[in-house]
Amino acid sequence: MISKSKRSWIEINLSTLINNLNIYVRSIPASTQIMAVVKADAYGHGDGIIAGFLSDNGVHNFAVSNIDEAIHIRKAGVEGQVLILGYIPINRAEELLEYDITQALLSEEYAEALAKKNLPIKCQFAIDTGMRRIGLNADNPDKCEVVIRKYADCFQLNGLFTHLCVADSNEPNSVEFTKIQIRKFEEIVNRIKDLNLPYCHCMNSAGGLWHSSALSSFIRLGIILYGLKPDYMNTLPDGIEPVLSWKSVVSMVKEVKIGDTIGYGRTFTVKHPMTIATIPTGYADGYSRLLSNKGMVLINGHRAPIVGRVCMDQMMVDVTGISDVEIGTEAVLLGKSGNLSITADDLAHLYGTIGYEIICGISKRVERVYIT
Ligand SMILES: *Cc1c(COP(=O)(O)O)cnc(C)c1O
Repeated sequence: MISKSKRSWIEINLSTLINNLNIYVRSIPASTQIMAVVKADAYGHGDGIIAGFLSDNGVHNFAVSNIDEAIHIRKAGVEGQVLILGYIPINRAEELLEYDITQALLSEEYAEALAKKNLPIKCQFAIDTGMRRIGLNADNPDKCEVVIRKYADCFQLNGLFTHLCVADSNEPNSVEFTKIQIRKFEEIVNRIKDLNLPYCHCMNSAGGLWHSSALSSFIRLGIILYGLKPDYMNTLPDGIEPVLSWKSVVSMVKEVKIGDTIGYGRTFTVKHPMTIATIPTGYADGYSRLLSNKGMVLINGHRAPIVGRVCMDQMMVDVTGISDVEIGTEAVLLGKSGNLSITADDLAHLYGTIGYEIICGISKRVERVYIT
């Protein structure tokens, strides 16, 4: 029993990961390939192990957010293309070559600064089709073309990419905006066809499922690979499940009486006799304090609501009426218990964020346990 030896841990199910990948791949056109997005430590799941496992299962392209992440997965033995989607300091350009990493060119100025290094770096130009985050502005395709051609020879330019900002929404305005983004991207891709760039891609998880472009050779698959929804309102293909479960244990059980208050700030007042369990997981583990008096854990197949404020390292939950709760009883923070389940999407929805933020925010002090 894992719970006998641990305080707070996540179980990462590698079979679920591959199952999600396979279901996703079956839902998209056969010509499209997968670039697994393993930034932010593979959304908290552990980038070395996740990328390594995906690589053993036929994925050969990976995306990360910065150079330390890129080097980390290379050192873990991951081969194939590793693309950095964002900024790296120019003075780290040599490491791109050393580790055979592909860098995004964020703007003309950024390309110019990197070109001064005079290194044959693999690069892909970011194109801004409407998000206004990074990239050459696609509203001026002539300029984009000139800049792309200018730098095609300074580097080993092998692709272009853009990012969709409302692909997870089916509201008519959003659908229209996504279509426009894809059209703007395709226009640039068509103009530089003669450069034969093999990696032109515009799809995230949501785009890949709900939009299509014949000119996107890759889908940058992130959140759905990990079994969560891009947006709370989305419905995922059948069978896609969260890869991680977060568990802790009961550290103490006590009876409280009417009039007692629970936790910092005395935000919860006991109105009837209750049984309270303490769980040794808190906001320093990445369990948000915004879930104070809002969240819940699952114990023995029952819901145990959080009472009072989530502390740094502990929280208190109401286990009144739940039998067999004692020191060491498992508490499920994310995952299944009996017939009940809580996903990161559900929990996020309770306090106005998204599942992405919860899974990326689980602290490193929470042990990662891999299962299949
Ligand atoms: C994070 C990211 C992705 C993956 O997005 P998901 O919604 O997790 O699929 C794809 N492309 C870029 C540029 C990103 O930053």
